[in-house]
Amino acid sequence: MPRPQYNRRMATTLRQSKNFIGGEWVDAASGETFESTSPADGELIGVFPKSGPDDVDRAVSAAREAYEHWRLVPAPKRGELLYRFAQLLVERKDEVTDLMTHEMGKVAPEAGGDVQEAIDMSYYMGGEGRRLFGQTTPSELRDKFNMSVRMPIGVVGAITPWNFPIAIPSWKIAPALVAGNTVVFKPATDTPALGQRFVELLDEAGIPKGVVNIVHGGGGSVGERLVRHPDVPVITLTGSRDTGVTVMRNGAENLKRIHLELGGKNAIIVLDDADLDLAVNGIVWSAFGTSGQRCTAASRVIVHEKVLGELSSRLVAAVEKLSLGPGWEDETDVGPVINRAALDKIHSYTKIGVDEGAKLLTGGETASDGDLAKGFYYRPTIFGDVEPGMRIAQEEIFGPTTALIPVKDADEAIRVSNGVRFGLSSSIFTQDVNRAFRAMRDLEAGITYINAGTTGAEVHLPFGGTKDTGNGHREAGQAALDVYTEWKSVYVDYSGTLQRAQIDNA
Ligand code: NAD
Repeated sequence: MPRPQYNRRMATTLRQSKNFIGGEWVDAASGETFESTSPADGELIGVFPKSGPDDVDRAVSAAREAYEHWRLVPAPKRGELLYRFAQLLVERKDEVTDLMTHEMGKVAPEAGGDVQEAIDMSYYMGGEGRRLFGQTTPSELRDKFNMSVRMPIGVVGAITPWNFPIAIPSWKIAPALVAGNTVVFKPATDTPALGQRFVELLDEAGIPKGVVNIVHGGGGSVGERLVRHPDVPVITLTGSRDTGVTVMRNGAENLKRIHLELGGKNAIIVLDDADLDLAVNGIVWSAFGTSGQRCTAASRVIVHEKVLGELSSRLVAAVEKLSLGPGWEDETDVGPVINRAALDKIHSYTKIGVDEGAKLLTGGETASDGDLAKGFYYRPTIFGDVEPGMRIAQEEIFGPTTALIPVKDADEAIRVSNGVRFGLSSSIFTQDVNRAFRAMRDLEAGITYINAGTTGAEVHLPFGGTKDTGNGHREAGQAALDVYTEWKSVYVDYSGTLQRAQIDNA
């Protein structure tokens, strides 16, 4: 398939960056900095402020002050600023895409998709400025009018991971803004330049001073202060399960609204009546796209024993053709993983899998030939003979590793798919409509795909997971507005007399 063409190396001039607080670009109070380097080849991308609690406090107070004005800007006008932001992203898409291939490591078509998702989300949420629907209902009393309206909440703390460095900030910041909240944004320390670019474009779109602020720095310093700050009533976090637990615990002190989007251990089920060519394509894309670093990545493949041999040989053949390299090169299928720690963790799971008795079918090693030695590359890895209870079939590896688990029938497949702590995405390949509908009903996940892999989402449907993947909230679609608004019920009594509700008037 021909790839979209991107203008190259436009964005990788060295960045000397600051925090953006109250409409001013400022250094960290400590004056300390940290570096962002490319996982593809070690190139220095930029130098960023290593902020601490003081910087968070300044940003929160700027956001708190801006909130008093922003909440009164008519929602359609707030939406128009999001349209302008979306349009700027359209104009700068090549540049941001290119920066993403360098800073985060995704291959260019996926990086372009990440930016496109932010464009789609910003247009979608911009439109919410003219909706933000509430309800009207009849009253039980005469001459009385009842309605419910969505109210903004205040300052939103948005804490994001590195794996969708433009899309995920948009999932959080666009609905927060259209609903009338202000934002303090803490991007991941592996992708600060992309977080910064996101905020620069919001500023260029005309978002007023203090409405969006960015504070760079680590989870333990910046993130933790944001979560504990008494003037930040909403925290939205996408990250690992462990971070989610810490954030929920720390936010409990102030009874915050905590929105968590956490890990996954997603499975593709391949039944004996599946179209195997389609299934192989779906598995390759879902397990090895973004080097397996999507929260929806398929790190398990549950296969009917009748087609196991055929599927695994076709899959291994397809995977061995994938070429590793920097994301900006046309011939690259699989880019690097995010950093040295991720590479070591992924490799440690290969050892765990072998020790547990699973059969390594392909991969299982770092790739360091030629220029690959400059980055963090891991060969796409497939294990066979995997038992559902093995650690490689239970724990999130977050890399290009997947596990083939044989089953005897569709019921067992669903049981195995559900037999993990996470519940983000799920998928089944079958030609049988009855089996497909049973899977739609019985798979314990926030997303179910029929005859497609586990990855990919559209911005106008809810996105998120069940069980330990989250805490019941959703990103995207109308559902996201529930995170960033509070319901208010309004009763207007125009009878001119004191009518008493909740009294037995019969
Ligand atoms: P992470 O949990 O290490 O970090 C996520 C963010 O939280 C970062 O900005 C980090 O600095 C911050 N953080 C860390 N400790 C904190 C603390 N104590 N208080 C406040 N903030 C803190 O995750 P990661 O490695 O950046 O991302 C990978 C994880 O994200 C995977 O588990 C993946 O499944 C998950 N993820 C989930 C979704 C989803 O929608 N469910 C989407 C993408 C990624």
